[in-house]
Amino acid sequence: MTFTRWENRSVIVTGGTRGIGYGIAELFARQGAAVLLTGRDERTACAVAEGLARTTGGRVTGRGVDLRTPAAIDEMAAEAVRLHGGIDVLCANAGIFPEKPLREMTADDVDEVLDVNLRGGILAVRACLPTMEGAGRGRVILTSSITGPTTGYAGWSHYGASKAGQLGFLRGAALELAPHGITINAVLPGNVRTEGLAELGEEYLRGMAASIPLGRLGETSDIAHAVLFLASDEAAFITGQTLTVDGGQTLPESLDAIAPAAP
Ligand code: NAP
Repeated sequence: MTFTRWENRSVIVTGGTRGIGYGIAELFARQGAAVLLTGRDERTACAVAEGLARTTGGRVTGRGVDLRTPAAIDEMAAEAVRLHGGIDVLCANAGIFPEKPLREMTADDVDEVLDVNLRGGILAVRACLPTMEGAGRGRVILTSSITGPTTGYAGWSHYGASKAGQLGFLRGAALELAPHGITINAVLPGNVRTEGLAELGEEYLRGMAASIPLGRLGETSDIAHAVLFLASDEAAFITGQTLTVDGGQTLPESLDAIAPAAP
């Protein structure tokens, strides 16, 4: 049996400066892929990329790409082609999750979340399409969430809408991309230990960990390995699908339904 060889494959990871995106970029770099990672700020992205190149020994480049700016997204795709000769994999991962109760939500609050999480991801896929179509192959992996597609959380209704919206996009896009040999799938993380999640506070993290049957928060590598699989040659016949990676968090009907931890 042969497995995907990642050497010289070109991978873009949006939101690769920290959290889940950083974990994805790190795993691809360790496999030998050429990685372009992005965040809002060019200097931060470059510094993170340099650090990853050092620790993994891989080819990692950073660029500042604000996903609210369509021209910057197009430039991201062009830069990947200039640097790495093509685009084999797009990990449309960047996202924000500001808390805002519906009663206090402004139009700008809604726009901000939808612009980054939904519109930014769609435009990133569009920007990579000509290159992938030209090659007759490609892999797109969206980072969605359990929140929205599967569960709800008070204070994050706009976020849930953006994450569920990604899946509507996923299914239509899968049909358009299939004739070109391009697959598109989504990972649905549960609660993963990232800088962004830590900003929600210790109490939030403790409560979440207690509601996960496997007894811990997710690690970024848990999500990265699922993404790596969906990006692999071995996943060639999977498109338009979702892969939940949540430690079983969405299974129990109540906290009582979770078996107590072994002594
Ligand atoms: P995080 O630690 O806050 O990192 C977010 C990343 O997105 C950063 O690299 C950030 O880069 C980038 N980003 C934010 N706004 C951006 C913008 N306007 N343009 C470009 N990049 C932008 O978040 P995370 O927890 O890793 O979450 C990553 C993804 O996983 C998100 O889509 C999130 O919805 C999803 N998710 C996370 C969890 C979880 O438990 N952590 C659960 C389910 C789904 P800069 O700060 O450098 O700009």
